[in-house]
Amino acid sequence: MNKNFVAGHWVDGEAYENRNPSDVSDLIGVYAHADVATTEAAIAAAQGASHEWAHATIQKRFDVLDFIGSELLARKDELGALLSREEGKTLAEGVGEVARAGHIFKYHAHQALQPNGEVVPSVRAGLQVQVTREPVGVIGIITPWNFPMAIPAWKIAPALAHGNTVVFKPAELVPGCAWALAEIISRSGLPAGAFNLTMGAGSRVGQTLLNDSRVSALSFTGSTTTGRNVARAAAHRMVPVQLEMGGKNPMVVLNDADLDLAVNCAVQSAFYSTGQRCTAASRIIVTRGVYAAFCDLLVRRTLELRVGHALAADTQIGPVVDPRQLEQDLRYIEIGRSEGATLACGGAPVRRPTEGHFLAPAVFVDCDNRMRICREEIFGPVASVIPAEDYDEALAIANDTPFGLSSGICTTSLRHAAHFQRHAQAGMVMVNAPTAGVDYHVPFGGVKGSSLGGREQGQAAREFFTKVKTTYIAA
Ligand code: NDP
Repeated sequence: MNKNFVAGHWVDGEAYENRNPSDVSDLIGVYAHADVATTEAAIAAAQGASHEWAHATIQKRFDVLDFIGSELLARKDELGALLSREEGKTLAEGVGEVARAGHIFKYHAHQALQPNGEVVPSVRAGLQVQVTREPVGVIGIITPWNFPMAIPAWKIAPALAHGNTVVFKPAELVPGCAWALAEIISRSGLPAGAFNLTMGAGSRVGQTLLNDSRVSALSFTGSTTTGRNVARAAAHRMVPVQLEMGGKNPMVVLNDADLDLAVNCAVQSAFYSTGQRCTAASRIIVTRGVYAAFCDLLVRRTLELRVGHALAADTQIGPVVDPRQLEQDLRYIEIGRSEGATLACGGAPVRRPTEGHFLAPAVFVDCDNRMRICREEIFGPVASVIPAEDYDEALAIANDTPFGLSSGICTTSLRHAAHFQRHAQAGMVMVNAPTAGVDYHVPFGGVKGSSLGGREQGQAAREFFTKVKTTYIAA
């Protein structure tokens, strides 16, 4: 059994299994559920290691993070296969995600070496001002199942780089990736207790992290419902919180777009990683002049997508992560039909030689932005195409959503692209590119209901994982 990692030791717990969504007869492993006592022990260990890690040299921090990044990169094929087996994205996507996690650790290794403050002249004579950054303390990290390596990496790496200690609670569906990452971290040279892994239910392990006064800050990615709960707990304890939540990302296609490129962007944005990405485009807003031709081509390309076992070489769309998510996707297909949208293709379970949670990617056409399928996050391979009269209406529809993570436009008009960049209500804008797929060295995050708190990734991560001290020195 693969155990939890607490205070530098592997700790037992109630056994639970995880299975391959491409083939439910494939048992990936047996993992130990942490209980409240184990989680509290992890928090105590993280608190106990705080002083030592906060005062470790930046060379030590660099070495630890660089070690983790190097091993992830060296083992990207093996760990990518584990990721695909566990989460269901294709092998290429799985390997790519592990490589990205490796690069994230290496990037933050270098961040540890950056200046951590500045000397500023005082407005008063005889004084010097120093603005420095210090670690926050124990960081509670709670992650979702859909990027089981990259999301933990982009929280754990900056937390450690800036001298914080960590209690990491992964989603219950993906303990295999979490454990593999923790196993590497356990050999990286960190002091015992500086990093802890507690696998198990959100309602138990997660909730303990939210409520414990020894946890100094909370970094969460997941659904809006859980995010609200995390924000409430953080507000109650008055600790910093960073939330990355859902999206209902639009992709606008204008009459002057390169249609082939636009359809490629739509297919990738909506269906790759089985549509289970917070940056997936689930609303494709198309102006009238190309509406019919676009829908036609989109449906043709969607029907050509090969749905199958995540590890098969020719698979383009892997399975949905679990039966509960599949049920949710199918429920929304029914909702779309009952709301009057036209299901142009897909939307039904698919049988494959192995028993898995396969779903044919679905395209709804003639949608109205007021429909529930256009307002609520489905988190599956379901795209809704919405007609618009012109650019102005398309932009208004794109912004008419409670979310604001990623927003895309396909156009050959520089004027419209530049206007869209300024007026899209989103944290990330994509011009003639898929709404999903981002770099690791620049800020990631959204506006409105998609995000709260400091941005993740790149240098921006420093804001959340440090606190600022201003010192006045009389010279
Ligand atoms: P959930 O919100 O269900 O879960 C996210 C994490 O929170 C899991 O580790 C979960 O644990 C934990 N959790 C659940 N209940 C509690 C609780 N009461 N207290 C503390 N922690 C809790 O999201 P999913 O895992 O289903 O992920 C899908 C969602 O994540 C989608 O809505 C998607 O949009 C969003 N997402 C957002 C991203 C972004 O950057 N904006 C990126 C990726 C995903 P467990 O599952 O073990 O119960």
